[in-house]
Amino acid sequence: MYTHIEGNIYSIFVPLPENPLKNLNAYFIMGEGGRNLLIDTGFRRDECREALLEGIAELGASMEDTDICLTHLHSDHTGLAAELAAPGAKIYISREDGTRLEQFRQASNSHRMDEYSRLGFSEAEIAFLRDSPMRKYNAVQKADFSFIGEGDALEYGGRRLRVISTPGHTPGHICLYDREDKVMFLGDHVLFDITPNITTWPGFEDPLGKYVHSLMDVSIFDVRLPLPAHRGVKGSMSERIGAIIEHHGVRIREMLDILTAEPGLTAYELSGKMTWRVRGKSPSWADFPLQQKWFAVGETAAHLEYLTVRGRAYRKPEGGVWRYYT
Ligand SMILES: [Zn+2]
Repeated sequence: MYTHIEGNIYSIFVPLPENPLKNLNAYFIMGEGGRNLLIDTGFRRDECREALLEGIAELGASMEDTDICLTHLHSDHTGLAAELAAPGAKIYISREDGTRLEQFRQASNSHRMDEYSRLGFSEAEIAFLRDSPMRKYNAVQKADFSFIGEGDALEYGGRRLRVISTPGHTPGHICLYDREDKVMFLGDHVLFDITPNITTWPGFEDPLGKYVHSLMDVSIFDVRLPLPAHRGVKGSMSERIGAIIEHHGVRIREMLDILTAEPGLTAYELSGKMTWRVRGKSPSWADFPLQQKWFAVGETAAHLEYLTVRGRAYRKPEGGVWRYYT
């Protein structure tokens, strides 16, 4: 199923089963005589593969004539790229995310598990997280990536798409901007119904600080048509950016208040004392699905890192976990 956005831009509805994001908006730029460009693919699972290929066929196109651009490394965006790219087709991604994706593909399941235990997850929870959907629906094949970065441009269907580096949601997230038509393909950098998840990464310091910086970086562009990778658009992009920054400010103050009252919490324990909204409800921490706990604790850890980098909090290793103090 596809939707005509405008001109030669289409979106294909790719369902994301068992995932609160519900669906991916895969964007498709018709090449009009030249090659087409597909932006993001969905998980490597049957429901995604069928919906994507059906949408492309309905458009009268095929993967033979299509290159792929990946906004970032997450498997709901990249899972199908390696298997769907025809021989010789380009798969664009930032060097940072492409390199991490390949390391992740090769990594054993113990990858990053030490970090989860330092955040305060139990052994049993860690064992479960080893088989998370993010791992399961990742590409199994090696992809031949073409690396792109800030200042590069992709030319498809008469459009010149400028690559804007927007680290934050992932270390190498990118957006694409068509200046002539004032269209921006946002990936997960700015979402309208949900706040993009910000988490910690090895070798990528201060993800939240970098994310806020990247929000400012896209604010300077004139965007008439923002195209997010999930859900729809509500209001203007600049209003949404303001609301996202405010949201993180509120979260940071909430964490500082809790930590001041109860020093020495782990990221996991602190997460349990925060208020969260999951699918419109505020479940108790005990009722949180583990996959959602993983996102929540990652989010808390990113905020704690924002505070520690700025000298507003510090952490002490105690008994195999990190405990935080203001
Ligand atoms: Zn993502």
